[in-house]
Amino acid sequence: MEAVQKTIDQELLETPDLSHLNASDYDHVYEPREDSFLFLDALEKDINLIRLVKPSLCLEVGSGSGVISTAIARLLGSSSYTIATDLNPFACQVTHQTAEANKCHVSCIQMDLDSMLRMNNSIDLLLFNPPYVVTTSEELKQPGVDGSFLHLAWAGGVRGREVTDRLLNHIDQLLSHKSLFYLVVIKENDPDEISKAMALQGFKGEIIASRKVRNEMLSVMRFQRG
Ligand code: SAM
Repeated sequence: MEAVQKTIDQELLETPDLSHLNASDYDHVYEPREDSFLFLDALEKDINLIRLVKPSLCLEVGSGSGVISTAIARLLGSSSYTIATDLNPFACQVTHQTAEANKCHVSCIQMDLDSMLRMNNSIDLLLFNPPYVVTTSEELKQPGVDGSFLHLAWAGGVRGREVTDRLLNHIDQLLSHKSLFYLVVIKENDPDEISKAMALQGFKGEIIASRKVRNEMLSVMRFQRG
């Protein structure tokens, strides 16, 4: 009975309305799928912890449709400012549209990772569902077919880690003292090794959600200083 009550009391993370987007948007921008929805589920389970941290500044790297950053911006309301980045200019446009359609604000700026931001330990909540599929390094650098930006959404280079590692390498300078960082990974990305690399920068990591989707083992990792 207590468990049932706990479930009822659990605050829910609303999935943003994406009905303003159509098939032609998804010709250019990553359509939310199992990884995005596992990410939302993991964030929902962690709402109490996120509220405890009281994030003033949130950053989503690689926002795609904006489904994740919009959910967070709506959850936190005016107590927090949400910034997003994406290398794909269409994703930035669509992220703005998604936030607007869901009556909240997300500032999305086109850039590589956080390269144009000077955040100096001010990000309290960092979210990244990166391109994690194992490819060759060449495949990662190749422009998409017909100039499409969609390959950016999945091509992750060697071990699917090339894009993720570039962010992890300077994470200590980005995150605030009380921060939470959530990262989507697959088994091939070697989550244990990511945890060890993050530990060297002073972060504790753990897997907070996992789901097998076809032949892929998807997980969401949470990192905190400590
Ligand atoms: N966050 C969205 C979601 O969960 O549905 C999209 C995730 S999709 C797997 C990865 C996103 O990262 C894509 O929108 C892609 O364009 C973006 N991306 C890839 N490389 C990037 C980079 N170097 N800097 C910024 N964004 C990047």
